[in-house]
Amino acid sequence: MKAIKVIEPFKVEIVDVPKPKIEKPNDVIVRVTSGGICGSDIGIWNGTNSLATYPRLIGHEFGGIVESVGSAVKGIRPGDQVAVDPVISCGQCYACRIGRHNVCRDLEVMGVHRDGGFAEYVKAPAENIHLFHKKFDESLLGLVEPFTIGVEINNRAQIGKGDKVLVMGSGPIGICAMQVAKRNGAQVIMTDLVKERLEKAKSMGADETVLVSEENLEERLDRFTDGEGIPVVVDTVCVPSSFEQAVNLACPAGRVVCLGLKDKPSSICMAEITKKELTIVGSRLNNHCFDEVIEGFEDGSLHPEELMTKAYNYKEIMDALDMIKEHPQDVLKIVLKFED
Ligand SMILES: [Zn+2]
Ligand SMILES: [Zn+2]
Repeated sequence: MKAIKVIEPFKVEIVDVPKPKIEKPNDVIVRVTSGGICGSDIGIWNGTNSLATYPRLIGHEFGGIVESVGSAVKGIRPGDQVAVDPVISCGQCYACRIGRHNVCRDLEVMGVHRDGGFAEYVKAPAENIHLFHKKFDESLLGLVEPFTIGVEINNRAQIGKGDKVLVMGSGPIGICAMQVAKRNGAQVIMTDLVKERLEKAKSMGADETVLVSEENLEERLDRFTDGEGIPVVVDTVCVPSSFEQAVNLACPAGRVVCLGLKDKPSSICMAEITKKELTIVGSRLNNHCFDEVIEGFEDGSLHPEELMTKAYNYKEIMDALDMIKEHPQDVLKIVLKFED
């Protein structure tokens, strides 16, 4: 079968590799129909993803049709449409024991630490397979994973009905977090430096948008919250200064969600956290959020079709990567279709 392999930074090839076989009783083989290209795939490609090892079959956002199942698999049948959770954990460590397996001590993510789903077929344990309940557009099955990042953010910040949420940054993660927050009954204000991105965010459901290069964010937040201050801030910009800003903007008793993986420090004054008794949480990958996203796709409250900027055949992977490199502001999500 064919698969997309990053041999070393800047060297991507379509390679022939053996088709996976059922080996363990709970193995499931999926014929991949679609995958989403993520910032971290770009990082593996250009050598800036510190977690990746080479060579690597990439892809952690993918889904497709079940091809075959092992003898112990129940409730999953050949022909089912599924999305695959790429998070693999040990089940034994402290994080796993308290139900936080997405930060397992021995965490492995398919497509990052082990081979992933940008291939014609992929093998995964049954517990990582999540079923669609009605026929869904095959080219969108790979977009469940990015929305699970949005659910995790919402769960970590306990975003619910009546909450007012600031999402800093209107890229794919910001959009997914916003749509999930809207589904949860919150009101969302989003920022960006690019006007077109904000127009897109608004058309996808954001209540208000702020062009931070031209408008005063604090004034807009004052109006948005009737002077109370913003209780939830989600920083998807992920640079040291945006995290500082997030902590400064959150109102007393507020929550701040941090998603960045930069290893540079931010200057945060402890009094800011203590005086306001802020809750600052990290949010990484997803903790069993696939079924909630599939439900959102099926009930129409989440919109993967709007997240997709363009679809390419997987053999055009270089064109897809060039599109992202040359037009980063125009791209939310590039989808790869795995078909001849
Ligand atoms: Zn991703
Ligand atoms: Zn573990």
